[in-house]
This record gives sequence, structure tokens and C-alpha cells, in this order.
Amino acid sequence: MRTIIFGCTGQDGSYLAEHLLNKGHEVIGIARRTSTPNSCRLTPILGHPLFSLLVGDITDFGSILQIIQDHQADWVINLAAQSHVGTSFQQACSSMDITAKGCVNILEAIRLTDRVCLINDVGHTTKFYQASSSEMFGKAYDERCMGITLPMVMGRYQDENTKFEPQSPYAVAKVAAHQFCRLYRQAYNMDIRCGILFNHESERRGEEFVTRKITRWLGQFLGWKNSYLNASFVNDKEEVYIGGRVSRDQGFQFPKLRLGNLDVSRDWGHAKDYVKAMTLIMEHDTPDDWVVSTGNTHTITEFLAMAFELAGLGCWKNYVVIDETLKRPAEVPFLKGDSSKIRETLGWRPEISFAKLVKGMVEHDINKYRGSEN
Ligand code: NDP
Ligand code: GDP
Repeated sequence: MRTIIFGCTGQDGSYLAEHLLNKGHEVIGIARRTSTPNSCRLTPILGHPLFSLLVGDITDFGSILQIIQDHQADWVINLAAQSHVGTSFQQACSSMDITAKGCVNILEAIRLTDRVCLINDVGHTTKFYQASSSEMFGKAYDERCMGITLPMVMGRYQDENTKFEPQSPYAVAKVAAHQFCRLYRQAYNMDIRCGILFNHESERRGEEFVTRKITRWLGQFLGWKNSYLNASFVNDKEEVYIGGRVSRDQGFQFPKLRLGNLDVSRDWGHAKDYVKAMTLIMEHDTPDDWVVSTGNTHTITEFLAMAFELAGLGCWKNYVVIDETLKRPAEVPFLKGDSSKIRETLGWRPEISFAKLVKGMVEHDINKYRGSEN
């Protein structure tokens, strides 16, 4: 089995590549050219005999067509995206180019390549996976009466039938890509599978996402605090600083954690569980759309409370400043997925709990910044 992964250097791409290599796939990772190498998440597999890393940018149709034609993969997985919602408000055009049009570039490259194979009687069919997102639901949800269904899906939820009401340029781009996938599946009978994944995190999560931003701050703060073992720490009440020896000496100050909207809920799972779901979706006999979620939802403040307790700092409120500029022009207030379809049909279920996810991320970042001042 040969699999091409676009977005291989990202959180999911790195875990998926590892998972597929363990299953015996040949994996070709595609990464865009950067001025300095950014393949740190791939460290465990660089040098694996079945892994290779090629240069390609999904906004560049020519390079994508060449890759698809040259390698004739069994599976093509598109995880590449400008994946940060907040950034998409500042970079709407490039978010559309990468996250929406990038997907169409790959679809077209596969369509044209498989068509040429058909004409030449070679009969090659590529299975394609698109990383769709729960952000596509935006403000929309469905509702079930309490007590009639399983506790996991009581009350408000989103599933494969929930309408899309996107709330950001990122989400609009994901809806566009998703609809292209549905269209190409119907119009050209292409083998296209979409995983509508709810938020999933890990110690490899990008540092600007709220979970990793919190655990990274904790690691950096504890690293800084431990380097001033004999200093007395005070909360000087100023918004920007958590403490100082007694004076306002810059060297003994550390900026508080600045966050935006805390009144939102997310259905957070672990990325390792979610790449297993992607694999099951690809292995299934029928192309389809699948919601992947834990079925549990937590507020940002619940994440904060658990992370700060685990780090031994007590109440998070002493360390956090609300920064209005970090609030988004439009917001997704509530996400809680009903993943009954993939659980019942493919037997998938998440194995890593919310508590274990938070603990793993906190411990990783504390170890990472131990003994460091920044
Ligand atoms: P990351 O941001 O960690 O990874 C995105 C990847 O896309 C990176 O490898 C990035 O490369 C690559 N990329 C960006 N632009 C281009 C381009 N023009 N050409 C080629 N590659 C490009 O995201 P995740 O791993 O967290 O998510 C994977 C996918 O799943 C994304 O599409 C995301 O939108 C989607 N998704 C993620 C969810 C989550 O909670 N993690 C939830 C639902 C959907 P580089 O390293 O150079 O930046
Ligand atoms: P998203 O669900 O894909 O947007 O993932 P994020 O981790 O970026 O954001 C999750 C939620 O946390 C969103 O509702 C954000 O508005 C909220 N949030 C609050 N403060 C912050 C912050 O400082 N950074 C980020 N990224 N999100 C924040």
C-alpha cells in the first residue's frame, strides 16, 4: 500500500504517518518549501525505510499533478490547511487558497490522473481523504430530548446531518472543500471520504491553539519560576505580570497568560485516537462522511482549571488576563459531536480521556521547559 500525505509535517500528519508505517504502508509525505526545516514532528520516522518526504505546495496545481502522476498512490490524504481559525480572519484570501482551493487542486489532479489510467486500460483508482472539520457546523446544532437517547448524545449535539453555519473564513473554506468532495464523489464516482473531526490535541498541537498555548505557558512559567528558587513571588496586580521579586525589575517579571473568549465549549479528543479513525474510514468498503468526536464537551475554563491544578499552581484566575484583542469577530460557542455512526459501523472509539489528554500535555510542556527561563 502506498499513501501520500499532504500536511505531513503537522500534528495529525506526523501521527498518521507513524500509524501507517506501523501497518506496513509506504508513506510519501508532502511538505511545502520553508526557509528552515520544519520537520521536527517527523523526527521519529525520518530515516524509516518506507518513508520519504517530498516538496509540494497544495496551492500549486502543477506540483500536485506531478506528485499524483509520478507516485500512483493507493491512498491520498489531504491534511494540509491554514488550520488556525483566528489567523483566518486576518488572512482570509490565503486561507481560501490553501484550505479550499488546495483541496480542489488535489481532487483535479487525482481525477485527471485516474482518467488517463482508465483510458490506457490500467484501471487505477485512488482513495482520497479530506480533513473536514467540526468548525463547519459553526453556530448550528441539533437537539434531542433528555432521557430518550444514550447519555453521550443527550441535549445539543452535531452529527453528519447537522447543517453547516460556518463562523470564520477557515470554516467557510472547509465547507467549500467538503462540498467539492461531495460533488466529485457524485459527479465523477470518485472514491472520496471525509472525516468531520472535532478538536483533537496532543503535545504536538500547534502552539497558537488554546490548549497548547495554556500548557506551553505553564511549562515556561514553571521553568522561569524554578530558575529563581530563592526569590519571593508576588502577584503585583498589574495585568501584564504575574510576579516579581519585590520590585518591578524586568528580570524578575513574567507576563501573565493572555487569553480571549473563555465562554466556549469544545469536544476535545486526542490526535492519536483520531488518526486511527482516519485509517478505519479509509479501510471501509464505501466512500462516505463520518463525524469523529468523543461526545463530551468542556469549557476553556474547565481545561484551564485542570491544567493549573495538575501543574500545582492552584487557581488559574491569578495567572490569566483576558485580552479583548484575542476575541474573534465571530465565534463557535458550542461543539459536541455525536459519533454514533463511526462507533457502530466501524467500531471506533476514543481511548484517551480528557483528563489523560490534559495531563499528557501539561507534563510534556513542564518537562520541555524544565530549567529554562523562556
Ligand atoms: P496543522 O496546522 O498541525 O498541520 C497543517 C499542515 O498543513 C502542516 O503540515 C502545514 O505545513 C500544511 N500546509 C499548510 N499550507 C500548506 C500548503 N500550501 N501546501 C502544503 N502543505 C501545507 O493541522 P492539524 O494536523 O492539527 O490538522 C490536520 C488537518 O485537519 C487540517 O486540515 C485541519 O484543518 C484539520 N482539522 C484539524 C482539527 C484539529 O483539532 N486538529 C479538527 C478538524 C479538522 P507547515 O508545517 O509548513 O505549516
Ligand atoms: P478552534 O476551535 O479550531 O478555533 O481551536 P482554538 O484552540 O484555536 O480555539 C478554541 C476556542 O478557544 C475558540 O473559541 C477561541 O476563541 C477560544 N480562545 C480563547 N482564548 C484563546 C487564545 O488565546 N487562543 C486561541 N487559539 N483560542 C482562544
